[in-house]
Amino acid sequence: MPKKKIITHQKRAKPELPLVAVDVVALEKKLPPKAARSHHVVIKVDKVGKSFPVGESVVPVLHDVSLNLYSGEFVIISGPSGSGKSTLLHSILGLEPPSAGSVIMRDVDLYKDLDDQGRTRFRREKVGVVFQQSNWIKSLSVIENVSYPLWLAGESATSARQTALNWLEQVELAEWADHHPSELSGGQQQRVALARAMVTDPGIIVADEPTGNLDSEASEDMIALLAKLNREQSKLILMVTHNLSLLPIATRRTVLKDGRIIYDQHD
Ligand code: ADP
Ligand code: MG
Repeated sequence: MPKKKIITHQKRAKPELPLVAVDVVALEKKLPPKAARSHHVVIKVDKVGKSFPVGESVVPVLHDVSLNLYSGEFVIISGPSGSGKSTLLHSILGLEPPSAGSVIMRDVDLYKDLDDQGRTRFRREKVGVVFQQSNWIKSLSVIENVSYPLWLAGESATSARQTALNWLEQVELAEWADHHPSELSGGQQQRVALARAMVTDPGIIVADEPTGNLDSEASEDMIALLAKLNREQSKLILMVTHNLSLLPIATRRTVLKDGRIIYDQHD
């Protein structure tokens, strides 16, 4: 007789995140109005498929995903855990070669026109990236971490520091410049991560669950900053979130399920 699986209380599926709701109606009143959708395609995801080899078999994760992302859009991708959201973002970021299809960003075919090094350089120049957990260089202060992408781009330390400070001011953390990132709260760290993402002035921001570890207040601060960048500076934002209360702030809502787009709606 097969052994019966005993599901203990701890093992029972828990909701992935506590419900953190942001009052977007109140927030919307503090934000500039949404911009109209442009006709300029910045990222073209064309029939992307992705499978991972697992042991002897191959597990399909993305199926025939096609998306045209336009300049100035704020796209929120949601969907169940394991539906392929992060894998899709990684492919768009040039970090995960698709098994089929192509990703074209600003007319560059990431996996045909560029090699690994080229993709890294391209991403550094064109895309600001924020993940759920910020990866700090532990030996560096807040402002040095924010300056780091500019150092890589060859800017002098003085000019990098000035640009980094401007961005820290925009996320209201200038007074923490010379502290260590670990002294900051989770919400503050995510705002520093956003400053670091913006320091090279990319036109595109890709954020994978940037409010995933934050409470309502910190989530609101983070989303307000992203919305302002989108609405005042026409940054294309591509964000994955589980927080469905944030959906109205976006200009487009896309849902992924089992590696397929099952819903895609824009204002
Ligand atoms: P989501 O971000 O929507 O939660 P992911 O894109 O992280 O989903 O993962 C989708 C599926 O792909 C999951 O079943 C995950 O286990 C699988 N997966 C992701 N990365 C790999 C990998 N490197 N190797 C094998 N399977 C992977
Ligand atoms: Mg994910």
